[in-house]
Amino acid sequence: MTAASAARSILTRLHDVMASRLHAQAKLNQVVEIIGESLDSEVCSIYLLREGMLELFATRGLNQSAVHVTRMAIGEGLTGTIAERVETLNLAEAAAHPDFQYRPETGEEKFHSFAGVPIVRRERAVGVLCVQHVDPRRYEEVEIEALQTVAMVLSELISNAELVDDEDVLGANADQTSPEILKGLTLVKGLAMGTAVFHQPRIHVEHMVAEDTEAERQRVLTAFDKMREQIDRMAGQAEFGKGGEHEEVLQTYKMFAYDEGWTRRINEAIDSGLTAEAAIERVQQRTRMRMRQIDDPLLADRMHDLEDLANRLLRIVSGQLGTAATLGLRSDTILLARNLGPAELLEYDKRRLKGVILEEGSLTAHVVIVARAMGVPVIGRIRSLRALVRDGDQLLVDGDAGTATVRPSQSMQDAFEARFAKSKERQAGYAKLKDVRPVTRDGVRVHVMINAGLRDDTAMLNLTGADGIGLFRTEFQFLVAAALPQRERQTRLYRDVLEAAGDRPVVFRTVDVGGDKALPYLRVDAADQEENPAMGWRALRLALEREGLMKVQARALLEAAAGRTLNVMFPMVSEPWEFDEARAVFEEQRLLLKNNRKMLPETINYGAMLEVPSLAEMLDVLLPKLAFLSIGTNDLTQFLFAADRSNPKLAERYDWVSPAILRFLRRIVVSNQDHGVSLGICGEMGGRRLEALALIGLGYNRLSITPAAVGPIKELVCKLDASEIRTAMEGWLANPPADMRATLRQWAQEHELDVD
Ligand code: PEP
Ligand code: MG
Repeated sequence: MTAASAARSILTRLHDVMASRLHAQAKLNQVVEIIGESLDSEVCSIYLLREGMLELFATRGLNQSAVHVTRMAIGEGLTGTIAERVETLNLAEAAAHPDFQYRPETGEEKFHSFAGVPIVRRERAVGVLCVQHVDPRRYEEVEIEALQTVAMVLSELISNAELVDDEDVLGANADQTSPEILKGLTLVKGLAMGTAVFHQPRIHVEHMVAEDTEAERQRVLTAFDKMREQIDRMAGQAEFGKGGEHEEVLQTYKMFAYDEGWTRRINEAIDSGLTAEAAIERVQQRTRMRMRQIDDPLLADRMHDLEDLANRLLRIVSGQLGTAATLGLRSDTILLARNLGPAELLEYDKRRLKGVILEEGSLTAHVVIVARAMGVPVIGRIRSLRALVRDGDQLLVDGDAGTATVRPSQSMQDAFEARFAKSKERQAGYAKLKDVRPVTRDGVRVHVMINAGLRDDTAMLNLTGADGIGLFRTEFQFLVAAALPQRERQTRLYRDVLEAAGDRPVVFRTVDVGGDKALPYLRVDAADQEENPAMGWRALRLALEREGLMKVQARALLEAAAGRTLNVMFPMVSEPWEFDEARAVFEEQRLLLKNNRKMLPETINYGAMLEVPSLAEMLDVLLPKLAFLSIGTNDLTQFLFAADRSNPKLAERYDWVSPAILRFLRRIVVSNQDHGVSLGICGEMGGRRLEALALIGLGYNRLSITPAAVGPIKELVCKLDASEIRTAMEGWLANPPADMRATLRQWAQEHELDVD
């Protein structure tokens, strides 16, 4: 007999019981009879969780007087062990197992063999189904599989009959799992508490027994087709990023998606009488159990990919396609995902989103920049989140240490709350610096500005007392929109931002899309899919060709800044002619407006970003044309080191304070000495204290940074003597120390500066 037919014959009989009008207890009594008979077992019992204990609810073969009397704690005896570990046991001699506990009231002494499987609901054991036998023999594999399938169906019966309280299911969580500390990489500092929510929600299968097996087979077939199509298309999507590790993941996905063994096993499970959803879940359970016995990290990783894919298949089959953002956040949330695009993050309710944990991620990935701007701590590089965290688990995120605590104990929570309060105090201390002008002890005025991109970000100007907005990423409006934003909408946003900024300058960067900022509505032909989008058709390169897009934006900016100063900056300028062309687009629009007697900006300052290294060789040509130059260290570093900024494998590899970068940045200062163009930094680097110290040492006095860093940087500036760090930096650049970071840190210590 195959496992499918064994399970099928039981399920057919169970189906009638479940559909009957009997009350729940009577149904359970019949269920144990059916299973016992079918598996030729003298005993079949069902234990269910009640008030935190496993209670014998129904039995065939044990003393009936033990029903509702015998109770075991989670972890106690064989039944308790199965529930605790959510694992199957199959023993020839029950009494020989170290966890065996004899319960005289049951009269079980005559039975030798024992097999038990957990009854699982929402990934937690809510009961145990077990069979016992007089002969001391292990149960066959097909019998165990049949039991497992039946246990799935029982969970439906149990939940429909409300035999187990949801409270018990949640309570079981606390009992069954202990705190765990996950270590990752700090991407955005800060502390956060909340409940775990997966960006791609896990589907909880509610209907287990199929009405029409053929129809279920069709549903799975169609879902597989859809999933394969998705995987084939996925390469370019933000959820997966590009290159490096993502490619590997995608390859693994492909391998599983087209794996015939997987499809076959799901079909067999459908044959046994399960619905498509239950069959997928059933196969997954079985794989999980097998994998648990193999201790191989590589396989564990693969398993994780398969879990992801199985969940995707479940979502397709059940038609539940939305992300957690579509469903809405209900309480303070820590969001978990493999990776996210910036637009995906922006879909979440800011008031409830407290922290993010990613399996991938890097410091300069745009999703991380967005989170930083939102003041949301992010930890990256924690693998196998699904295996470690469950939906609804309590989480403490320590973005400073790069750790997250799952299911913290009360004392952990108390300690965290105390730190939280302290950090809020520190924040309040920084807030007090808001009216302090950042001037070094030797009188150098450092302009500390903020990077922004959303309308709400302007509030940070007043909260931090920053000198202005040194980088307004206009593409964020494009990223959060469902379609290309109309000119009027753009104008409105820019005008609001200028108004909020008042006298303080705002530097608008023209759209920088492409790379990891893909616009779903800006269609790119499949034939044009880029291997290397960060170095591809993005930013100004794209804007100059899609002239319509740039013209509209130019017009919107010019109109919004009527009567004021307009600062425009072009991203990814690689050669001076690109700057000329971009400027010409603006000038053409300006003339047009002038001819139409429209009010114009009082002054227009055109600037460029230096983020492509080639431009550094052309500064003598470019600088005379510019009002300002802003260095985008995020992109610049990736191009200097030929290291993809969104590739997590390279996330920690190159240091911003490496001599190569510092020398490069110094060269730009030197090239500008005869030109006196206003120079600034607008990459994430400037918002980190140790890096900012180095930058001031190189002669940079304008930093545009993430708002949360304004206070800490102001504090540093005010305690610093600029000429001292400049002299030290000169020496280090001439003779680079082996570890520049350690050298800088030591210098800071000696000068009593906090750079962490
Ligand atoms: C940069 O590249 O450093 C930069 C500021 O631009 P973005 O991060 O938006 O690419
Ligand atoms: Mg850039």
